[in-house]
Amino acid sequence: MSAAGVVVVGAGLGAVRLAENLRANGYESPITLIGAEPYAPYDRPPLSKTVLLGKDERVDLKPAEFYGDSSITLRLGRRVTAVDPKAKAVTVQSTGGGDAVQIAYDQLVLATGLTSRKFPGAEKLTGVHTLRTFDDAVVLRAEIDAARTAVVIGAGFIGCEVAASLTARGVQVTLVEPAPTPLALALGAQIGALVTRMHTANGVDVRAAIGVDEIVGDPSGAVRAVRLSDGTDVPADIVVVGIGSIPVTDYLTGSGIELAAREAGGGIACGPDGSTGAADVYALGDVANWRDESGAARRVEHWNHTVDQAAVVAAAIAGGPRAPIKAAVPYFWSDQFGVKIQVLGRPRPDDDVHVVSDDGARFLAYYSRDGILTAVAGAGKAGAVMKSRAKLQTPTPIDEVLPPHQS
Ligand SMILES: Cc1cc2nc3c(=O)[nH]c(=O)nc-3n(C[C@H](O)[C@H](O)[C@H](O)COP(=O)(O)OP(=O)(O)OC[C@H]3O[C@@H](n4cnc5c(N)ncnc54)[C@H](O)[C@@H]3O)c2cc1C
Repeated sequence: MSAAGVVVVGAGLGAVRLAENLRANGYESPITLIGAEPYAPYDRPPLSKTVLLGKDERVDLKPAEFYGDSSITLRLGRRVTAVDPKAKAVTVQSTGGGDAVQIAYDQLVLATGLTSRKFPGAEKLTGVHTLRTFDDAVVLRAEIDAARTAVVIGAGFIGCEVAASLTARGVQVTLVEPAPTPLALALGAQIGALVTRMHTANGVDVRAAIGVDEIVGDPSGAVRAVRLSDGTDVPADIVVVGIGSIPVTDYLTGSGIELAAREAGGGIACGPDGSTGAADVYALGDVANWRDESGAARRVEHWNHTVDQAAVVAAAIAGGPRAPIKAAVPYFWSDQFGVKIQVLGRPRPDDDVHVVSDDGARFLAYYSRDGILTAVAGAGKAGAVMKSRAKLQTPTPIDEVLPPHQS
């Protein structure tokens, strides 16, 4: 009987990096990526940046010939609707309809990412958007030219990037956030204030510490305004909702594969190598909630983290060298108004924050907890941020990194 090989559910960043690592580790059996979108694996970070700006189309993660050359089968426009770990098979349905088929696996990898959270009650209004897929970006981009005003609800990383891109396209943007500042939940209010300054300086109307009661439509069913919790209506030709995402796990109902508790971040519960409770089933990327060697469980929605996990799962399956998970020092970036914001480490909003340089546009800050360095965040400070990696790999007293007059 021929081997069924590795089947990956989801054909995004994690899937393609896993497949690449498997081949690099000498894995010779079939590899099949099943993806619900009609496109070969593409990169999501450009969606809120260069794609909205009209500078890029879809940015494919690999050239088309990579898949044939590496004997990797893409089954696109197909959604996995069920997983049966006992039979070692998945049920696959074409998104265009037709009969479901069963595909067998030797090892199964779940890399289904996230779906955007919708604003309740606004599902039927036109002009209200979320941004997760290339198709989302194309639909939003097509409305920008005709729009004078936009409201972005939620000032996390994607909301802030969309606000910056719409502003650059000449739209008057209001950015609404219930926390005290944009990015306060990720970086704390002190750095959030510097991000607010960047947005305000570029013409964004930042409304922080206020909620949204309703997205208001006109009689034709098009969005007209966003009603804030103080009763103010902010006019909007377009609304972009950036209020978080939900791990895609619906197809696991009845499979017995354990999900992590919502309070622990949700997603698929995994061990330190991505293994789930079911034999030969792994999960990685945005959907995966990995427990590390210390027992702490965490779900992370960042590009580099997904890439690191793909190397670990590939080594677990193919028996190659186990890549050390560089995510011991997590990294992510965000591009806003032509400035790269970069964060290394694990900042917590209640950490002590030490701003060591700030010229009004670019800044560098260290985070500490109980006197130990926990993270570094910079805007337009790539060299200084990256130089801190070694200091974050071992417990480093904050005084060791601060300039003498600040320690
Ligand atoms: C707009 C945007 C901007 C971003 N910018 C940054 C950034 O600047 N920096 C950063 O660090 N990170 C950024 N990220 C996050 C980064 O892109 C993700 O961490 C990364 O894509 C995760 O990869 P993944 O493989 O887990 O999931 P994804 O890339 O989301 O791929 C999952 C795939 O699975 C498919 N799928 C879902 N369910 C099924 C099913 N049942 N059957 C078949 N297929 C299914 C989905 O359609 C999707 O194509 C951004 C994300 C977005 C959306």
